[in-house]
Amino acid sequence: MPIRFYNSLSRSIEEFNPIRPGRVGMYTCGPTVYNYAHIGNYRAYMFEDLLRRTLKFCGFEVRQVMNLTDVDDKTIRGSREAGLPLDEYTRKYKDAFFEDIGVLRIEPAEVYPEATRHIDEMIGLVEALLTAGVAYRADDGSVYFSISRFPRYGQLARIALDPERQVARVRHDEYAKESIADFALWKAWDEADGDVAWESPWGRGRPGWHIECSAMSMRYLGKSFDIHTGGVDNLFPHHEDEIAQSEAATGRKFVNYWLHCAHLMVDGRKMSKSLGNFYTLRDVLDRGFSGREVRWELLRTHYRQTLNFTFQGLRDARVSLNRLDEFVTRLKEAAVEPNAGRDAVEERCRNAAAAFLAGLEDDLNISAALAALFDLVRDVNRMIDAGECRGNAAETVLGRLRDMDRVLGVLDVDRSETVPGEIQALVDERQAARKARDYARADAIRDELTAKGWTIEDTPKGPRVKRA
Ligand code: AMP
Ligand code: ZN
Repeated sequence: MPIRFYNSLSRSIEEFNPIRPGRVGMYTCGPTVYNYAHIGNYRAYMFEDLLRRTLKFCGFEVRQVMNLTDVDDKTIRGSREAGLPLDEYTRKYKDAFFEDIGVLRIEPAEVYPEATRHIDEMIGLVEALLTAGVAYRADDGSVYFSISRFPRYGQLARIALDPERQVARVRHDEYAKESIADFALWKAWDEADGDVAWESPWGRGRPGWHIECSAMSMRYLGKSFDIHTGGVDNLFPHHEDEIAQSEAATGRKFVNYWLHCAHLMVDGRKMSKSLGNFYTLRDVLDRGFSGREVRWELLRTHYRQTLNFTFQGLRDARVSLNRLDEFVTRLKEAAVEPNAGRDAVEERCRNAAAAFLAGLEDDLNISAALAALFDLVRDVNRMIDAGECRGNAAETVLGRLRDMDRVLGVLDVDRSETVPGEIQALVDERQAARKARDYARADAIRDELTAKGWTIEDTPKGPRVKRA
């Protein structure tokens, strides 16, 4: 089956066909680096990670471009409040972003263009829009996009312009649907910008946020490309404005598939900086959760469903991952035994792989993909119990897990957990106590391990210790 996505532009599920067979150009609105990204932002980046990994899994070559918004209303305000030059102020949050995506095992994009390094491209695009007659200069030297001169305006957000209505002008980067208006392409310098300004044919100023993404996406992916993604809050005005600017300048269709993820919510409201109901990744790690657990929690809900963030959710993620880790350990133990059950196990694996792929191809239906994985775990566990999955059969399953993990990025098939020396010493001591039939002492050590967050299980091959 070909892969299918829900396209926000057509509001329907469509078969995905890239412009150039086998290759995908994909643009992702990246972080505005005025603060640490919160895990709501990471839900968006996680969905995009699942998308790129799935496309690669399906054999496509992916070129993903993710911009860093390092000049806009928010970054300028932040740098002025901090009393730092803009570059220095945003550097810290850029570094933090790259650290975070490493912790979350998000695959890096191919290109990370920074807005401040692409001002020439933005100026060029504004000039093209003035030449095309869809932009105009305002009295203060700013340049605005005229939405009434672009008849297709509103195609993504499905807004119909009222030809009778006088169109207002909006200078801010962010505004609501109710205040649909001509938006700033180039903002003439004003007091609030401090020393942030570039020379342009219209005097000193800076780009608007929307033109940044049009300029950087087309610079690295061409005038028309395959996929554009973001959180659903980017749909209007940001993506609507990107389409208007790009298509008015080039006369071509800008993007074929628009994919948007639903929000991460807290107590029924969107997690956001402005509401103050957010957790950064650091906040969550400080509470003892791992990047892998956060990854799982953000990944396991379909991207178009809102996801309610709770710490209980993270604890559940830990339980699921423990179950998978245990499964991997069992398989590794079974793999060193004499061969048994290969044919049946192989068939079971083939079915699981087919169901896993079919789920992903169906608009990234992660629930179906994970159900395929957990069904496999259940069945193979039974086969191991019955001695029907040993040696090369167990190796086969491990191979399948490695394969699925190219998409999931959580399984750690080849990473053995390192047990800290202090814990290993207790395990050894308990073993010695058991040998000496000092069961009271052995139990006391078990309790001590539990208190330290480790569980111990006695197997025919000796004790197995793992994180609780
Ligand atoms: P920003 O840094 O605000 O430009 O946002 C970066 C990305 O995070 C964009 O794709 C937003 O749509 C997305 N985003 C922001 N808040 C949330 C949220 N609560 N849930 C999901 N995505 C979000
Ligand atoms: Zn953008």
